[in-house]
Amino acid sequence: MHKNFKNIEKVVYGRGAFSTMESILEPVRKENDHFIVYLIDNYFIDSDLSKRLNAQPGDVIKFIDVEPSEPTTDQIDNLRDEILGDKGLPSGVVGIGGGSIMDIAKALSLMFTNEGSSTLYQGLNLIKKPGIYHLGVPTISGTGAEVSMTAVLTGPEKKLGLKCDWTVFNQVILDPELIASVPRDKWFYTGMDTYIHCIESENGILNNAFSHAYAEQSLKLCRDIFLGDVAGQTAENDDKLMVASLMGGLSLTYSEVGVCHALSYGLSKILGEKHCYANCVAFQHLEDYYPQGVAEFKTMLKKHDVTLPQGLSKDWSDATVTAMAQVAYNLTHMWNHAIGTDWKDKITLDTIKALYRRM
Ligand code: NAD
Ligand code: ZN
Repeated sequence: MHKNFKNIEKVVYGRGAFSTMESILEPVRKENDHFIVYLIDNYFIDSDLSKRLNAQPGDVIKFIDVEPSEPTTDQIDNLRDEILGDKGLPSGVVGIGGGSIMDIAKALSLMFTNEGSSTLYQGLNLIKKPGIYHLGVPTISGTGAEVSMTAVLTGPEKKLGLKCDWTVFNQVILDPELIASVPRDKWFYTGMDTYIHCIESENGILNNAFSHAYAEQSLKLCRDIFLGDVAGQTAENDDKLMVASLMGGLSLTYSEVGVCHALSYGLSKILGEKHCYANCVAFQHLEDYYPQGVAEFKTMLKKHDVTLPQGLSKDWSDATVTAMAQVAYNLTHMWNHAIGTDWKDKITLDTIKALYRRM
């Protein structure tokens, strides 16, 4: 199968690039009802960044707390209904924040033009019409949500993305100055999402020269950032991490993620654990599948003095473990990539339950 993916239309990169946003939005403002919706991570509520927005009268600014839960279908539907009811159809949506805000901005852009609940569109190519203009400004790097063609939403029935060409941002602003304030633990977990994307993309049947080229470069950058002589949150490493995140995202787009992401989705869906943290909790136990990757990951944990919880599963009932394993098992494309087309001969619900029991 040949993958034919849309990329971000425009990307501006570099320190201070945030200041280009106003002029980028100027022509966009001519569309629809002539206002911009800014969705901003709550962390920035009283920050210098909010003052630098230069929003115009009539624009809508919403600060969003992303901590209570990952983005939900209800949250998107409510935001859409409220803004359409109050002000009409925006010219564009700007998301400023991490993967959660990136996904909210992408999903909201699509749901302004597609009727009904976003639950109707969770899946591949179910969206009927292009959304409105949307621009992403990542402020924490690693998930690759800034480049991906999916907006992951948790709904009443499933955690699944609105996935289509129109999901991809029209514009992304990569300004490494914006990630300097990320607390060290989140910096580590989110950065490790990039690392794990690359390891999983590389280790599976869908890996190819195209996905490999992105993964190879992204892994090189990750090694500088997390293992190099000047490893840590330096300005130079922040410059690198923004690029690594984007390239890791592109690598998995043209290949696939694997065992860790399948298990991580179970942890998120059933226990509400955050994506990047859940990946780290799972990845440390996957030496059977990714021996070199897990060994290197453990070196990074040690270098940055990050301790992950052990023995979690002793508090999980069999029903909980089964429910998580079911979520993971259903991600058939990930197992197919990681294990091979005969994966069902090798991976059963019990195999997956045993992996959760290691945690
Ligand atoms: P996040 O958006 O959930 O934010 C994590 C935390 O970092 C929050 O507390 C936030 O306030 C804080 N933060 C963000 N920027 C900051 C800054 N500059 N300084 C200080 N604090 C800052 O984090 P995430 O890990 O980037 O995103 C996770 C979400 O991304 C999940 O909902 C997951 O489902 C989604 N995701 C999407 C894709 C995709 O391709 N669409 C891929 C992976 C994950
Ligand atoms: Zn991920």
